[in-house]
Amino acid sequence: MNYLSQIQVNNISIVGSGPGNPELLTLRAARALELAEVVLYDDLSQTSVLALAPKNALLVDVGKRFNDGVDQDERQQTIHHLWLTYYNQKKRIVRLKGGDPMVFGKVYEELTFLTQNHIEYEIIPGITAGLSAAALFSIPLTIRDKAQGFMVTTAQKIKSQQTQLSGYAPLLAQGHPLIIYMGGTQLASLAKQLLELNISEQLYINVLSNVSMPTQQQQLFQLHQFKQADFMPEIALPAVVILGLYAKPFNYA
Ligand code: SAH
Repeated sequence: MNYLSQIQVNNISIVGSGPGNPELLTLRAARALELAEVVLYDDLSQTSVLALAPKNALLVDVGKRFNDGVDQDERQQTIHHLWLTYYNQKKRIVRLKGGDPMVFGKVYEELTFLTQNHIEYEIIPGITAGLSAAALFSIPLTIRDKAQGFMVTTAQKIKSQQTQLSGYAPLLAQGHPLIIYMGGTQLASLAKQLLELNISEQLYINVLSNVSMPTQQQQLFQLHQFKQADFMPEIALPAVVILGLYAKPFNYA
């Protein structure tokens, strides 16, 4: 398959940029960026990744800032407006998403919009934060006879409901690790739930911050540490959490 010519024919790419380090982009993602005329990017996009776009490309920040007061629907409308504007100008558009676009990437609304407007696109996969964290910090997610699967969720409160971990508890107890996105600020409440669910207190809790970046940081806890009410480790964001009975990193210093 001739990837390059396909990108040239296809004007619109939704591109997974991986966890942040440009070395972890796919070749196809890098190529799409190199051909971009307009890049619509999110807040977690790294300047070193954006630097792959041509110097004269238009870089548009459509990201959400924590507590920036902008309504989600309004933000989405703005993004849709930008899509149409540049599409009508026949620009080669790259919509850059952190990690993989299909994992907590809020693509649903945008794909609905593009489909309704008969705008063709391609999606280029990226390495999602949780999987890159597991690999970069030597945490096997599956182990023969011990962990025969793994789970992924988010800790973000949706309409003020806390993530309910009870559904995950039986599989955690069987050894399946759980990857939690957007959980860096909610470690204490997650641990409290896990203690109430009678998960083994030996459970490993890995907190992996700024994965793949020069500032990347690894912290390893065990569930029993959170029994002390004042145990509040400082967490650098963005962070991904990997819980598991066998989730002890091989490279932990
Ligand atoms: N689509 C993205 C996830 C977007 S949600 C992906 O597939 O990775 C944003 C969350 O992803 C953050 O709150 C954090 O939990 C995680 N994340 C993204 N980049 C990260 C990084 N470099 N290091 C650690 N966590 C990261």
